[in-house]
Amino acid sequence: MRPERGRAKKLIVAFHFQFANQAGWKCDDCRRNGLEKRRNCGWLGGRAPAPRRPVWIRKHAVAEECPVSYVTPQSMAWLEEFTVRKLVGGRRLEALPAKTVDALCVLENEYRREVADGEE
Ligand SMILES: [Zn+2]
Repeated sequence: MRPERGRAKKLIVAFHFQFANQAGWKCDDCRRNGLEKRRNCGWLGGRAPAPRRPVWIRKHAVAEECPVSYVTPQSMAWLEEFTVRKLVGGRRLEALPAKTVDALCVLENEYRREVADGEE
């Protein structure tokens, strides 16, 4: 499997982070507990220079930074678009910007893998 880069990688982390224990990743709590450096949190000035190590992993999704700061608002918007489309449908794909279609394809791929895993 080729490593995912950039936009797709962030999107994959966003998808998988939905299933994480969100309560364990509150940046304010991290700071209070002195975890921001270890978790390489981008919000709290913890961002470390390379080489980086994974701080959060789920299946093949890997973040070398606190997933809360790593995932972009754009990734969250695409994830929301994807979820809404799953629930109630949406505009035809042809009507969407190419970047959005790419993002929805990445998410669909992750979703299918997730469903397939669940049936094992
Ligand atoms: Zn954080």
